[in-house]
Amino acid sequence: MTHLRARTGTVGLAALAMAAGALVAPAHATTITAAPQAAAAPQAQKGGVRLHSNAELARTLKQIERASHGRVTVRSVGKSNEGRPIWFATLGSGPRRVMYVTQQHGDEPLGTESALAALRTLGQSDSRAARAVRSKITLGIVVRANPDGHEHQWRYNYDPDADPEYGEPGKGYDINRYHDPAVAPGDNPATEAAVIQRTYAAFRPSIVVDYHMQGRYAFPPPDGREITTSILWPNHPSVSAAALRRSKQVGVAVHDAFTRAGAVVSQYPGGTYQGIARNAYGLLGSASLLVELSALPPEREHFQVRTAYRSMVELAEAAASGALDRLDPAAADRIPPRGPSLPGGASAARDRGTH
Ligand SMILES: [Zn+2]
Repeated sequence: MTHLRARTGTVGLAALAMAAGALVAPAHATTITAAPQAAAAPQAQKGGVRLHSNAELARTLKQIERASHGRVTVRSVGKSNEGRPIWFATLGSGPRRVMYVTQQHGDEPLGTESALAALRTLGQSDSRAARAVRSKITLGIVVRANPDGHEHQWRYNYDPDADPEYGEPGKGYDINRYHDPAVAPGDNPATEAAVIQRTYAAFRPSIVVDYHMQGRYAFPPPDGREITTSILWPNHPSVSAAALRRSKQVGVAVHDAFTRAGAVVSQYPGGTYQGIARNAYGLLGSASLLVELSALPPEREHFQVRTAYRSMVELAEAAASGALDRLDPAAADRIPPRGPSLPGGASAARDRGTH
């Protein structure tokens, strides 16, 4: 991270990171992430991350399950409109339940690759740190919530009959607008959102983090650094003060983990709609956070996967150790707002508007 800061010589985010970092107990910096195992994916295409196809994802998850000797369980929690399984991988047996969701938007794939690496690190290692995490939390990851969108390389699910309020007629629903707690899964027109709703209800996580991708943005001059990651907690007015406070603590933990990994983090300018997962699971009382990885050029996709992986592992560690509960939620409010779009960034293939 130091080279990123040195490049611009600015102090805004660096000062924030140091202030926030001071709130993190030293025990939080355990050794689990010292040996990232992100190399497991089939690799590199034109300098970018080679993404798992849906078939490869199924095989890789089963391979992780086998190699974990019972520590990781992988099962399908439902099917997409085109009949593809939606995978839920769990590990650990602790009382604190943490849930990650990746790739609700089919063309925002990198969080899925990070999740595979996190499952390996937390599920396969016999290190004391990994065992400690598994004894204190139960982690569940919806790995690629929208396999049809991945297959079609678009944002929405696949539903040619859709004439949606959120989505595109003749194409599909925007899954991340259909988590409204007032709509029962059985009445939910967005199949994959209903699967996530049911999974949430059965798993009862106290923490939910939802991984997306955005275009390219920078902090305004004189800072000028490119933002690699944006995050936001629930901002629906009916979210309880307690849930908001815990969401901001998760935001600080995730901000700190990304920053330690070299990321440049801003707040995300998200709306208050209750159908967005970030708001919906906050309304249901969980600590809830949105993460947006910027669509950096191919040669920086490995960096993006690695930083998100670090956030997944280190949040799990912080939840397990209790360090999470000692973070100052007010530090979240000091994370700077997202700056302007970079030229060409808004039209990046992996940016499809707001999330
Ligand atoms: Zn998205």
